Amino acid sequence: MKARLRDLIIERMQILIQNAISHARHDPEIAQRQASLAKRLSTKYRVRMPYEMRMNFCKKCKKFIVPGFTARIRLGRSDVKSIRITCKFCNHTYRKIIKKQASKGQ
Ligand SMILES: [Zn+2]
Repeated sequence: MKARLRDLIIERMQILIQNAISHARHDPEIAQRQASLAKRLSTKYRVRMPYEMRMNFCKKCKKFIVPGFTARIRLGRSDVKSIRITCKFCNHTYRKIIKKQASKGQ
């Protein structure tokens, strides 16, 4: 696929996700619809959703989740920097490891 088209698709997905996030609070139904449209673009054109966008979908029930609204985010307590995302639809919790950076002296 042409890189140009790929960029275009990603841009459209970004717009859809952003719209979905801003709609989530007062119109969750529209938000879900916009999010699934973004997902459909991704499957139709076989463009992988960027990481930040994939974070907005529950790993288990695949619903669109908004941090601070339909998902709860907690910082992990272990040495490995991680966050825990809990989906409010299915209560599934999953962990994201935040990239470890080479520590400087500490
Ligand atoms: Zn879920």
